[in-house]
Amino acid sequence: MDIEAFRKAGYKAIDDICDYYYSLQEKSVVSNVKPGYLAELVPSEPPVKGEPFQNIANDYQKLIVPGLTHWQHPSFFAYYPTACTFEGMLGDLYASSASNPGFNWYASPACTELEVIVMDWAAKLLGLGPAFWNSSGVGGGCIQSTASDAALIAIVAARSLYQRTHPDVELDKLVIYTTTQTHSLGLKAGLILGLQVRALEVTSGDKFGLRGETLRKALEADTKAGKHPFILVATVGTTSSGAVDNLAEIKTVAVKYPSLWIHVDAAWAGVAMVCPEYREQCYLQDINDIAHSFCTNFHKWGLVNFDASTLWVRDRKYLTEALDVTPPFLRTAEGDAGRVIDYRNWHLALGRKFRSLKFWFVIRSYGIEGFQKYIRQSISLNESFAEKISQSKHLEHVTPPSFALSVFRLVPKLDSQRVFTLDELNGLNKQYYARISSRKDIALTQTVLNGVSCIRLAVGAAQTTKEHIEKASALLNEEAEEALKVWLE
Ligand code: PLP
Repeated sequence: MDIEAFRKAGYKAIDDICDYYYSLQEKSVVSNVKPGYLAELVPSEPPVKGEPFQNIANDYQKLIVPGLTHWQHPSFFAYYPTACTFEGMLGDLYASSASNPGFNWYASPACTELEVIVMDWAAKLLGLGPAFWNSSGVGGGCIQSTASDAALIAIVAARSLYQRTHPDVELDKLVIYTTTQTHSLGLKAGLILGLQVRALEVTSGDKFGLRGETLRKALEADTKAGKHPFILVATVGTTSSGAVDNLAEIKTVAVKYPSLWIHVDAAWAGVAMVCPEYREQCYLQDINDIAHSFCTNFHKWGLVNFDASTLWVRDRKYLTEALDVTPPFLRTAEGDAGRVIDYRNWHLALGRKFRSLKFWFVIRSYGIEGFQKYIRQSISLNESFAEKISQSKHLEHVTPPSFALSVFRLVPKLDSQRVFTLDELNGLNKQYYARISSRKDIALTQTVLNGVSCIRLAVGAAQTTKEHIEKASALLNEEAEEALKVWLE
Protein backbone atom coordinates (compact mmCIF):
# COMPACT_ATOMS: atom_id res chain seq x y z
CA MET A 1 0.00 0.00 0.00
CA ASP A 2 1.38 3.40 -0.90
CA ILE A 3 0.70 6.64 0.92
CA GLU A 4 -2.30 7.65 -1.19
CA ALA A 5 -3.86 4.19 -0.95
CA PHE A 6 -3.35 4.42 2.83
CA ARG A 7 -5.09 7.80 2.89
CA LYS A 8 -8.12 6.27 1.16
CA ALA A 9 -8.16 3.06 3.19
CA GLY A 10 -7.62 5.05 6.39
CA TYR A 11 -10.67 7.29 5.78
CA LYS A 12 -12.72 4.20 5.03
CA ALA A 13 -11.45 2.45 8.17
CA ILE A 14 -12.50 5.41 10.34
CA ASP A 15 -15.93 5.37 8.66
CA ASP A 16 -16.24 1.65 9.40
CA ILE A 17 -15.25 2.18 13.03
CA CYS A 18 -17.83 4.95 13.42
CA ASP A 19 -20.49 2.66 11.92
CA TYR A 20 -19.42 -0.07 14.34
CA TYR A 21 -19.98 2.27 17.28
CA TYR A 22 -23.32 3.47 15.90
CA SER A 23 -24.50 -0.12 15.47
CA LEU A 24 -23.07 -1.48 18.73
CA GLN A 25 -26.43 -1.49 20.52
CA GLU A 26 -27.98 -3.64 17.79
CA LYS A 27 -25.30 -6.29 18.05
CA SER A 28 -25.45 -9.20 20.46
CA VAL A 29 -22.95 -8.60 23.26
CA VAL A 30 -21.48 -12.08 23.16
CA SER A 31 -20.38 -13.74 19.97
CA ASN A 32 -22.45 -16.61 18.54
CA VAL A 33 -19.54 -18.49 16.99
CA LYS A 34 -18.42 -21.97 17.98
CA PRO A 35 -14.81 -22.92 18.81
CA GLY A 36 -12.80 -23.39 15.63
CA TYR A 37 -15.16 -21.27 13.51
CA LEU A 38 -12.35 -19.23 11.99
CA ALA A 39 -10.21 -22.10 10.80
CA GLU A 40 -13.15 -23.13 8.60
CA LEU A 41 -13.23 -19.71 6.99
CA VAL A 42 -9.58 -18.71 6.67
CA PRO A 43 -7.09 -20.69 4.54
CA SER A 44 -4.49 -22.61 6.49
CA GLU A 45 -1.69 -21.34 4.20
CA PRO A 46 -0.61 -17.71 3.88
CA PRO A 47 -1.31 -16.16 0.46
CA VAL A 48 1.48 -16.41 -2.10
CA LYS A 49 0.51 -13.16 -3.81
CA GLY A 50 -0.54 -10.09 -1.84
CA GLU A 51 -4.24 -9.26 -1.86
CA PRO A 52 -6.01 -5.92 -2.36
CA PHE A 53 -6.44 -4.27 1.02
CA GLN A 54 -10.17 -3.71 0.57
CA ASN A 55 -10.70 -7.48 0.37
CA ILE A 56 -8.89 -7.86 3.66
CA ALA A 57 -10.87 -5.03 5.28
CA ASN A 58 -14.11 -6.60 4.03
CA ASP A 59 -13.08 -9.92 5.56
CA TYR A 60 -12.49 -8.17 8.88
CA GLN A 61 -16.18 -7.22 8.88
CA LYS A 62 -17.34 -10.58 7.54
CA LEU A 63 -15.13 -13.02 9.46
CA ILE A 64 -13.68 -11.29 12.49
CA VAL A 65 -16.40 -8.96 13.81
CA PRO A 66 -18.88 -11.86 14.26
CA GLY A 67 -16.31 -13.55 16.49
CA LEU A 68 -15.87 -10.53 18.75
CA THR A 69 -17.32 -10.13 22.21
CA HIS A 70 -18.24 -6.47 22.33
CA TRP A 71 -16.68 -5.09 25.49
CA GLN A 72 -17.84 -1.57 24.62
CA HIS A 73 -21.46 -2.73 24.30
CA PRO A 74 -23.70 -0.96 26.83
CA SER A 75 -24.91 -4.33 28.13
CA PHE A 76 -21.41 -5.71 28.69
CA PHE A 77 -21.11 -6.14 32.46
CA ALA A 78 -18.59 -9.00 32.61
CA TYR A 79 -15.07 -9.02 34.10
CA TYR A 80 -14.25 -5.29 34.36
CA PRO A 81 -14.72 -2.21 32.21
CA THR A 82 -12.34 -1.48 29.34
CA ALA A 83 -13.43 2.07 28.84
CA CYS A 84 -11.90 3.13 25.58
CA THR A 85 -12.15 6.50 23.92
CA PHE A 86 -11.81 7.79 20.39
CA GLU A 87 -9.00 10.04 21.58
CA GLY A 88 -7.19 6.94 22.84
CA MET A 89 -7.71 5.17 19.52
CA LEU A 90 -6.27 8.13 17.64
CA GLY A 91 -3.33 8.24 20.03
CA ASP A 92 -2.64 4.61 19.21
CA LEU A 93 -2.93 5.34 15.51
CA TYR A 94 -0.42 8.20 15.61
CA ALA A 95 1.90 6.16 17.84
CA SER A 96 1.69 3.28 15.43
CA SER A 97 2.43 5.61 12.53
CA ALA A 98 5.70 6.68 14.14
CA SER A 99 6.33 2.99 14.83
CA ASN A 100 9.36 3.23 17.03
CA PRO A 101 10.29 1.23 20.10
CA GLY A 102 11.46 4.28 22.10
CA PHE A 103 13.28 2.30 24.75
CA ASN A 104 15.68 5.06 25.73
CA TRP A 105 15.84 8.82 25.36
CA TYR A 106 18.08 8.70 22.29
CA ALA A 107 15.80 6.17 20.56
CA SER A 108 13.08 8.83 20.51
CA PRO A 109 13.30 11.73 22.96
CA ALA A 110 9.60 12.62 22.72
CA CYS A 111 8.51 9.11 23.76
CA THR A 112 10.49 9.23 26.99
CA GLU A 113 9.79 12.86 27.78
CA LEU A 114 6.05 12.60 27.19
CA GLU A 115 5.86 9.49 29.38
CA VAL A 116 7.73 11.30 32.16
CA ILE A 117 5.21 14.14 31.98
CA VAL A 118 1.98 12.16 31.60
CA MET A 119 2.93 9.81 34.42
CA ASP A 120 3.20 12.86 36.67
CA TRP A 121 -0.13 14.13 35.35
CA ALA A 122 -1.70 10.74 36.03
CA ALA A 123 -0.20 10.64 39.55
CA LYS A 124 -1.65 14.08 40.27
CA LEU A 125 -4.99 13.04 38.79
CA LEU A 126 -5.15 10.20 41.32
CA GLY A 127 -3.74 12.15 44.26
CA LEU A 128 -0.49 10.18 44.49
CA GLY A 129 2.02 12.26 46.43
CA PRO A 130 5.21 13.94 45.16
CA ALA A 131 7.31 10.96 46.28
CA PHE A 132 5.94 9.04 43.28
CA TRP A 133 6.38 11.82 40.72
CA ASN A 134 9.07 11.67 38.08
CA SER A 135 9.80 15.30 38.82
CA SER A 136 10.93 14.22 42.30
CA GLY A 137 14.05 12.76 40.68
CA VAL A 138 13.82 9.84 43.11
CA GLY A 139 10.48 8.11 42.69
CA GLY A 140 8.65 7.90 39.41
CA GLY A 141 6.19 6.22 37.12
CA CYS A 142 6.13 4.39 33.85
CA ILE A 143 3.55 2.77 31.63
CA GLN A 144 3.46 -1.01 31.58
CA SER A 145 1.42 -3.34 29.48
CA THR A 146 -0.64 -4.94 32.25
CA ALA A 147 -1.08 -5.05 36.01
CA SER A 148 0.40 -8.55 35.89
CA ASP A 149 3.59 -7.17 34.34
CA ALA A 150 3.60 -4.35 36.88
CA ALA A 151 3.25 -6.77 39.82
CA LEU A 152 5.94 -9.03 38.42
CA ILE A 153 8.30 -6.09 38.09
CA ALA A 154 7.50 -4.88 41.60
CA ILE A 155 8.23 -8.38 42.92
CA VAL A 156 11.49 -8.60 40.97
CA ALA A 157 12.54 -5.20 42.35
CA ALA A 158 11.51 -6.18 45.89
CA ARG A 159 13.41 -9.46 45.65
CA SER A 160 16.50 -7.71 44.40
CA LEU A 161 16.33 -5.11 47.20
CA TYR A 162 15.78 -7.84 49.79
CA GLN A 163 18.71 -9.86 48.51
CA ARG A 164 20.97 -6.84 48.67
CA THR A 165 19.99 -6.15 52.27
CA HIS A 166 19.86 -9.85 53.27
CA PRO A 167 22.68 -11.41 51.21
CA ASP A 168 22.73 -14.65 53.21
CA VAL A 169 19.08 -15.56 52.70
CA GLU A 170 18.43 -18.43 50.28
CA LEU A 171 15.86 -17.79 47.55
CA ASP A 172 13.70 -20.69 48.70
CA LYS A 173 13.11 -18.89 51.99
CA LEU A 174 11.55 -15.87 50.33
CA VAL A 175 7.76 -15.61 50.44
CA ILE A 176 5.38 -13.44 48.44
CA TYR A 177 2.32 -12.50 50.50
CA THR A 178 -1.06 -12.15 48.82
CA THR A 179 -4.56 -12.83 50.06
CA THR A 180 -7.05 -15.44 48.94
CA GLN A 181 -8.70 -12.64 46.95
CA THR A 182 -5.61 -11.31 45.20
CA HIS A 183 -5.74 -11.55 41.43
CA SER A 184 -3.96 -14.60 40.00
CA LEU A 185 -1.06 -12.27 39.12
CA GLY A 186 0.41 -13.06 42.56
CA LEU A 187 0.50 -16.80 41.97
CA LYS A 188 1.70 -16.33 38.42
CA ALA A 189 4.61 -14.16 39.57
CA GLY A 190 5.49 -16.88 42.08
CA LEU A 191 5.45 -19.48 39.29
CA ILE A 192 7.61 -17.39 36.99
CA LEU A 193 10.13 -16.49 39.68
CA GLY A 194 10.10 -19.85 41.43
CA LEU A 195 9.14 -18.24 44.73
CA GLN A 196 6.71 -19.35 47.42
CA VAL A 197 3.38 -17.55 47.59
CA ARG A 198 1.30 -17.44 50.75
CA ALA A 199 -2.33 -16.37 50.38
CA LEU A 200 -3.52 -14.85 53.67
CA GLU A 201 -7.08 -15.58 54.72
CA VAL A 202 -9.74 -12.91 54.52
CA THR A 203 -13.31 -13.20 55.73
CA SER A 204 -16.73 -12.20 54.52
CA GLY A 205 -17.14 -10.32 57.82
CA ASP A 206 -14.25 -8.09 56.73
CA LYS A 207 -15.77 -7.77 53.25
CA PHE A 208 -12.85 -9.87 51.96
CA GLY A 209 -10.27 -7.20 52.75
CA LEU A 210 -7.01 -8.06 54.53
CA ARG A 211 -6.81 -6.98 58.18
CA GLY A 212 -3.65 -5.87 59.93
CA GLU A 213 -3.92 -8.56 62.60
CA THR A 214 -3.95 -11.36 60.00
CA LEU A 215 -0.83 -9.90 58.42
CA ARG A 216 0.89 -9.46 61.78
CA LYS A 217 0.23 -13.07 62.85
CA ALA A 218 1.45 -14.44 59.50
CA LEU A 219 4.61 -12.34 59.61
CA GLU A 220 5.36 -13.45 63.15
CA ALA A 221 4.75 -17.13 62.43
CA ASP A 222 6.67 -17.18 59.16
CA THR A 223 9.61 -15.22 60.51
CA LYS A 224 9.79 -17.59 63.46
CA ALA A 225 9.76 -20.54 61.05
CA GLY A 226 12.78 -19.10 59.21
CA LYS A 227 10.89 -17.77 56.23
CA HIS A 228 11.35 -14.35 54.73
CA PRO A 229 8.16 -12.63 53.60
CA PHE A 230 9.58 -9.83 51.45
CA ILE A 231 6.56 -8.40 49.64
CA LEU A 232 2.85 -8.02 50.23
CA VAL A 233 0.67 -7.60 47.17
CA ALA A 234 -2.26 -5.67 48.62
CA THR A 235 -5.35 -4.91 46.58
CA VAL A 236 -7.64 -1.92 46.26
CA GLY A 237 -10.69 -3.34 44.50
CA THR A 238 -10.34 -7.11 44.12
CA THR A 239 -11.55 -8.71 40.92
CA SER A 240 -14.14 -10.95 42.56
CA SER A 241 -15.88 -8.48 44.83
CA GLY A 242 -14.15 -5.09 44.81
CA ALA A 243 -12.69 -5.73 48.28
CA VAL A 244 -10.13 -3.30 49.62
CA ASP A 245 -7.33 -4.46 51.90
CA ASN A 246 -7.16 -2.37 55.06
CA LEU A 247 -4.03 -0.39 54.28
CA ALA A 248 -4.37 1.73 57.41
CA GLU A 249 -3.98 -1.38 59.56
CA ILE A 250 -1.37 -2.83 57.22
CA LYS A 251 0.60 0.37 57.71
CA THR A 252 0.73 -0.05 61.47
CA VAL A 253 2.07 -3.58 61.03
CA ALA A 254 4.43 -2.72 58.18
CA VAL A 255 6.31 -0.08 60.17
CA LYS A 256 7.64 -2.93 62.31
CA TYR A 257 8.78 -4.80 59.18
CA PRO A 258 10.64 -2.17 57.16
CA SER A 259 12.00 -4.78 54.74
CA LEU A 260 8.49 -5.78 53.67
CA TRP A 261 7.74 -4.20 50.30
CA ILE A 262 4.11 -3.11 49.92
CA HIS A 263 2.83 -3.29 46.36
CA VAL A 264 -0.70 -2.00 45.86
CA ASP A 265 -2.58 -3.51 42.97
CA ALA A 266 -5.51 -1.23 42.18
CA ALA A 267 -5.76 -2.46 38.61
CA TRP A 268 -9.47 -1.94 38.24
CA ALA A 269 -10.63 0.37 41.03
CA GLY A 270 -7.64 2.70 41.41
CA VAL A 271 -8.87 5.21 38.88
CA ALA A 272 -11.76 5.99 41.28
CA MET A 273 -9.17 8.07 43.16
CA VAL A 274 -9.65 10.82 40.58
CA CYS A 275 -12.74 11.65 42.67
CA PRO A 276 -11.78 13.08 46.08
CA GLU A 277 -14.80 11.37 47.66
CA TYR A 278 -13.38 7.88 46.91
CA ARG A 279 -9.84 8.50 48.09
CA GLU A 280 -10.50 7.44 51.66
CA GLN A 281 -12.15 4.20 50.53
CA CYS A 282 -9.00 3.53 48.46
CA TYR A 283 -6.70 4.36 51.41
CA LEU A 284 -4.91 6.97 49.34
CA GLN A 285 -3.23 8.52 52.38
CA ASP A 286 -1.82 5.14 53.43
CA ILE A 287 -0.68 4.41 49.89
CA ASN A 288 1.16 7.71 49.94
CA ASP A 289 2.60 6.86 53.35
CA ILE A 290 3.78 3.28 52.86
CA ALA A 291 3.44 1.81 49.38
CA HIS A 292 6.72 1.00 47.67
CA SER A 293 4.84 0.61 44.41
CA PHE A 294 1.33 1.29 43.14
CA CYS A 295 -0.40 0.13 39.98
CA THR A 296 -3.67 0.96 38.32
CA ASN A 297 -4.87 0.20 34.81
CA PHE A 298 -6.09 3.19 32.87
CA HIS A 299 -7.14 0.64 30.27
CA LYS A 300 -9.76 -0.70 32.65
CA TRP A 301 -11.72 2.17 34.14
CA GLY A 302 -9.51 5.05 33.04
CA LEU A 303 -10.63 5.85 29.48
CA VAL A 304 -7.31 4.94 27.85
CA ASN A 305 -7.41 2.09 25.35
CA PHE A 306 -5.63 -1.17 26.13
CA ASP A 307 -2.75 -1.36 26.98
CA ALA A 308 -2.20 1.32 29.56
CA SER A 309 -1.18 0.04 32.98
CA THR A 310 0.54 2.57 35.21
CA LEU A 311 3.18 1.67 37.76
CA TRP A 312 4.74 4.08 40.22
CA VAL A 313 7.61 3.39 42.57
CA ARG A 314 8.85 5.35 45.55
CA ASP A 315 12.45 4.99 44.42
CA ARG A 316 13.33 4.41 40.76
CA LYS A 317 16.61 2.83 41.82
CA TYR A 318 14.58 -0.16 43.04
CA LEU A 319 13.77 -0.85 39.39
CA THR A 320 17.03 0.09 37.76
CA GLU A 321 19.17 -1.78 40.27
CA ALA A 322 17.12 -4.89 39.57
CA LEU A 323 16.71 -4.53 35.82
CA ASP A 324 19.54 -2.48 34.35
CA VAL A 325 21.52 -4.50 31.84
CA THR A 326 23.42 -2.20 29.51
CA PRO A 327 25.49 -3.77 26.73
CA PRO A 328 27.70 -1.36 24.75
CA PHE A 329 25.19 -1.01 21.93
CA LEU A 330 22.62 0.43 24.34
CA ARG A 331 24.87 3.03 25.90
CA THR A 332 24.14 6.66 25.15
CA ALA A 333 25.81 9.88 26.24
CA GLU A 334 22.59 11.13 27.88
CA GLY A 335 22.03 7.83 29.69
CA ASP A 336 25.63 7.63 30.88
CA ALA A 337 25.41 11.19 32.17
CA GLY A 338 22.22 10.31 34.08
CA ARG A 339 20.46 13.27 32.49
CA VAL A 340 17.51 11.24 31.21
CA ILE A 341 15.34 8.29 32.16
CA ASP A 342 16.08 5.12 30.20
CA TYR A 343 12.71 3.46 30.50
CA ARG A 344 14.07 0.18 29.15
CA ASN A 345 15.40 -0.38 32.68
CA TRP A 346 11.94 0.06 34.21
CA HIS A 347 10.28 -2.94 32.59
CA LEU A 348 11.02 -6.40 31.18
CA ALA A 349 11.36 -5.91 27.45
CA LEU A 350 13.69 -3.63 25.59
CA GLY A 351 11.26 -2.10 23.11
CA ARG A 352 8.32 -0.10 24.40
CA LYS A 353 5.16 1.10 22.74
CA PHE A 354 4.62 4.85 22.55
CA ARG A 355 1.72 4.57 24.98
CA SER A 356 2.12 7.98 26.55
CA LEU A 357 0.65 9.56 23.43
CA LYS A 358 -2.81 8.11 24.00
CA PHE A 359 -2.59 9.12 27.69
CA TRP A 360 -1.76 12.66 26.64
CA PHE A 361 -4.65 12.76 24.17
CA VAL A 362 -7.15 11.38 26.66
CA ILE A 363 -6.09 13.37 29.73
CA ARG A 364 -6.08 16.60 27.74
CA SER A 365 -9.43 15.88 26.10
CA TYR A 366 -11.26 14.89 29.27
CA GLY A 367 -9.47 16.94 31.90
CA ILE A 368 -9.81 16.05 35.57
CA GLU A 369 -13.50 16.94 35.43
CA GLY A 370 -14.17 14.56 32.54
CA PHE A 371 -12.57 11.67 34.42
CA GLN A 372 -14.54 12.48 37.56
CA LYS A 373 -17.81 12.67 35.62
CA TYR A 374 -17.21 9.32 34.01
CA ILE A 375 -16.28 7.53 37.26
CA ARG A 376 -19.22 9.06 39.13
CA GLN A 377 -21.57 8.01 36.37
CA SER A 378 -20.42 4.36 36.50
CA ILE A 379 -20.75 4.30 40.29
CA SER A 380 -24.16 5.90 40.20
CA LEU A 381 -25.34 3.35 37.60
CA ASN A 382 -24.09 0.57 39.83
CA GLU A 383 -25.95 2.11 42.75
CA SER A 384 -29.16 2.05 40.76
CA PHE A 385 -28.51 -1.61 39.89
CA ALA A 386 -27.83 -2.34 43.57
CA GLU A 387 -31.15 -0.76 44.47
CA LYS A 388 -32.91 -3.07 42.01
CA ILE A 389 -31.23 -6.05 43.66
CA SER A 390 -32.39 -4.85 47.08
CA GLN A 391 -35.95 -4.62 45.74
CA SER A 392 -35.80 -8.01 44.04
CA LYS A 393 -37.73 -10.93 45.47
CA HIS A 394 -35.10 -13.62 45.08
CA LEU A 395 -31.80 -11.83 44.42
CA GLU A 396 -29.57 -10.56 47.19
CA HIS A 397 -26.16 -9.00 47.56
CA VAL A 398 -23.33 -11.26 48.69
CA THR A 399 -21.10 -8.30 49.48
CA PRO A 400 -21.98 -4.62 49.59
CA PRO A 401 -21.70 -2.91 46.19
CA SER A 402 -18.14 -1.74 45.68
CA PHE A 403 -17.32 1.15 43.35
CA ALA A 404 -19.05 0.09 40.10
CA LEU A 405 -19.33 -3.62 40.94
CA SER A 406 -22.24 -5.60 42.40
CA VAL A 407 -21.96 -9.19 43.55
CA PHE A 408 -25.23 -11.02 44.10
CA ARG A 409 -26.84 -14.44 44.09
CA LEU A 410 -30.19 -16.11 43.89
CA VAL A 411 -31.64 -17.03 47.28
CA PRO A 412 -35.24 -18.25 46.91
CA LYS A 413 -37.82 -16.70 49.19
CA LEU A 414 -40.60 -19.30 49.19
CA ASP A 415 -43.91 -19.19 50.98
CA SER A 416 -42.97 -22.48 52.64
CA GLN A 417 -40.08 -20.64 54.37
CA ARG A 418 -37.88 -23.54 53.30
CA VAL A 419 -34.23 -23.07 54.27
CA PHE A 420 -31.55 -24.20 51.80
CA THR A 421 -28.06 -25.54 52.39
CA LEU A 422 -25.03 -23.83 50.88
CA ASP A 423 -24.56 -26.71 48.44
CA GLU A 424 -28.15 -26.44 47.29
CA LEU A 425 -27.84 -22.69 46.82
CA ASN A 426 -24.54 -23.05 44.98
CA GLY A 427 -26.12 -25.63 42.65
CA LEU A 428 -29.03 -23.30 42.00
CA ASN A 429 -26.73 -20.34 41.33
CA LYS A 430 -24.63 -22.34 38.92
CA GLN A 431 -27.79 -23.19 36.99
CA TYR A 432 -28.87 -19.56 37.19
CA TYR A 433 -25.53 -18.39 35.83
CA ALA A 434 -25.62 -21.02 33.08
CA ARG A 435 -28.90 -19.47 31.91
CA ILE A 436 -27.43 -15.97 31.96
CA SER A 437 -24.24 -16.96 30.21
CA SER A 438 -26.12 -18.74 27.44
CA ARG A 439 -27.74 -15.42 26.50
CA LYS A 440 -26.09 -13.30 23.86
CA ASP A 441 -27.73 -9.98 24.77
CA ILE A 442 -25.91 -9.48 28.05
CA ALA A 443 -22.56 -10.48 29.55
CA LEU A 444 -21.86 -11.06 33.25
CA THR A 445 -19.27 -13.22 35.00
CA GLN A 446 -19.48 -15.54 37.97
CA THR A 447 -17.22 -15.98 40.97
CA VAL A 448 -16.95 -17.89 44.23
CA LEU A 449 -16.45 -16.03 47.50
CA ASN A 450 -15.39 -18.24 50.40
CA GLY A 451 -17.37 -21.14 48.96
CA VAL A 452 -20.41 -19.10 47.94
CA SER A 453 -21.23 -19.13 44.22
CA CYS A 454 -22.22 -15.69 43.03
CA ILE A 455 -22.56 -13.46 40.02
CA ARG A 456 -20.82 -10.17 39.29
CA LEU A 457 -22.09 -7.19 37.42
CA ALA A 458 -19.44 -4.59 36.60
CA VAL A 459 -20.48 -1.25 35.12
CA GLY A 460 -18.19 0.90 33.01
CA ALA A 461 -18.88 0.91 29.27
CA ALA A 462 -19.23 4.47 27.98
CA GLN A 463 -22.62 3.87 26.31
CA THR A 464 -24.28 2.25 29.36
CA THR A 465 -27.26 4.25 30.61
CA LYS A 466 -29.93 3.81 33.27
CA GLU A 467 -32.13 2.09 30.67
CA HIS A 468 -29.51 -0.61 30.16
CA ILE A 469 -29.30 -1.11 33.90
CA GLU A 470 -33.08 -1.40 34.13
CA LYS A 471 -33.14 -3.84 31.23
CA ALA A 472 -30.38 -5.87 32.87
CA SER A 473 -32.12 -6.08 36.21
CA ALA A 474 -35.47 -7.03 34.60
CA LEU A 475 -33.71 -9.75 32.60
CA LEU A 476 -31.83 -11.05 35.66
CA ASN A 477 -35.04 -11.20 37.68
CA GLU A 478 -36.83 -13.08 34.89
CA GLU A 479 -33.99 -15.55 34.58
CA ALA A 480 -34.00 -15.98 38.35
CA GLU A 481 -37.70 -16.88 38.31
CA GLU A 482 -37.13 -19.33 35.44
CA ALA A 483 -34.06 -20.92 37.03
CA LEU A 484 -35.97 -21.35 40.25
CA LYS A 485 -38.99 -22.86 38.55
CA VAL A 486 -36.85 -25.47 36.79
CA TRP A 487 -34.84 -26.15 39.95
CA LEU A 488 -37.94 -26.73 42.09
CA GLU A 489 -39.55 -29.10 39.57
N1 PLP B 1 -5.60 -7.00 39.41
C1 PLP B 1 -6.93 -6.84 39.55
C2 PLP B 1 -7.48 -6.38 40.86
C3 PLP B 1 -7.78 -7.11 38.47
O1 PLP B 1 -9.10 -6.96 38.60
C4 PLP B 1 -7.22 -7.58 37.26
C5 PLP B 1 -8.08 -7.93 36.13
O2 PLP B 1 -9.14 -8.47 36.28
C6 PLP B 1 -5.83 -7.72 37.18
C7 PLP B 1 -5.06 -7.42 38.26
C8 PLP B 1 -5.16 -8.23 35.94
O3 PLP B 1 -4.93 -7.15 35.10
P1 PLP B 1 -3.99 -7.30 33.83
O4 PLP B 1 -4.81 -7.96 32.78
O5 PLP B 1 -3.68 -5.88 33.48
O6 PLP B 1 -2.80 -8.07 34.20
